Amino acid sequence: MVKVKIGLGGVTEPLVSKNMKTGDWGTEYPVVDEEKCTACKNCEIYCPDGCIKVVEKEGKKVAVPDYDYCKGCWVCFTVCPADAIKMEVKELYKVEVC
Ligand code: SF4
Ligand code: SF4
Repeated sequence: MVKVKIGLGGVTEPLVSKNMKTGDWGTEYPVVDEEKCTACKNCEIYCPDGCIKVVEKEGKKVAVPDYDYCKGCWVCFTVCPADAIKMEVKELYKVEVC
């Protein structure tokens, strides 16, 4: 458990949110198709949690989500102009219909 000291007015200490891994909040997660990604940075700009970044990977720039913090909000999926992101349901939330 992470303890957070909250002062008057609800102000927390700087960088406290880095300690709060929120990756298990969502039911879905983004998967980037590296072939389709054009490194336009739309996802990086619009992600409300700043947890998808365009990085150099094996000589190509591609978007990489940080699953420790991603809340599965679908914003990156929505703003990607290259259809390079698909949302997958986490194993825990997959249901089998009989
Ligand atoms: S699903 Fe939401 S939180 Fe996760 S990387 Fe995309 S925009 Fe960011
Ligand atoms: S928005 Fe789509 S094409 Fe642009 S960097 Fe992100 S994944 Fe790549």
